[in-house]
Amino acid sequence: MTAADRFPRIVLATGNAHKVAELRAILEPLLPGVELVPYGGPSPVEDGSTFLENAMIKARAAHEATGLPALADDSGIAVTALGGAPGIHSARYAGTGRDDDNRTLLLARMAEETDRRAHFVCAAVLVTDAESFEAVAEWPGEVLTAPAGEGGFGYDPLFQPAGEHRSAAAMTAEEKNAISHRGTAFRALAEQLGA
Ligand code: IMP
Repeated sequence: MTAADRFPRIVLATGNAHKVAELRAILEPLLPGVELVPYGGPSPVEDGSTFLENAMIKARAAHEATGLPALADDSGIAVTALGGAPGIHSARYAGTGRDDDNRTLLLARMAEETDRRAHFVCAAVLVTDAESFEAVAEWPGEVLTAPAGEGGFGYDPLFQPAGEHRSAAAMTAEEKNAISHRGTAFRALAEQLGA
């Protein structure tokens, strides 16, 4: 049985346009025949204490609102010298909800730090009436001392993946999706769905 037989329509439980674009690029080749439906309903309060709990909260809310199997991710950047911050608070680190403010705050907090290690984390889940599936992946690298690159979103201009000499924002979407936390987590999830 293919994923399309089991889940012909899946709602994507995210309001973040950049993430929707990344998820479509990652999932469409893996889940041929599955219709990925955008979610326009209310966003739940993400009050879980892990990426996985928050992904489950988002998926359950979209599933309850639409009756469809719901895919969600929760993701962020964990910086070693900051004890794993901003972690699950990545989207609202600076308190304004703006990516540029979040990047400015991270650069300020890291100004004196020589240990630049960080990793992105992505928890990916699918929730249906009867079942749930989950996968978590990390993408290791370092925090740069200044933004670089024109693409990507969020903390991409400040993140240099391990083994790379450029920021995640300087990579093409295909290059990023092939190795990123989101790409790895959703490929593992898609495999569980019968891809
Ligand atoms: P979420 O939408 O609640 O999962 O919040 C994720 C936040 O983490 C985003 O707002 C970004 O700031 C950051 N983030 C997650 N994944 C990425 C990525 O691939 N690149 C850059 N920033 C990311």
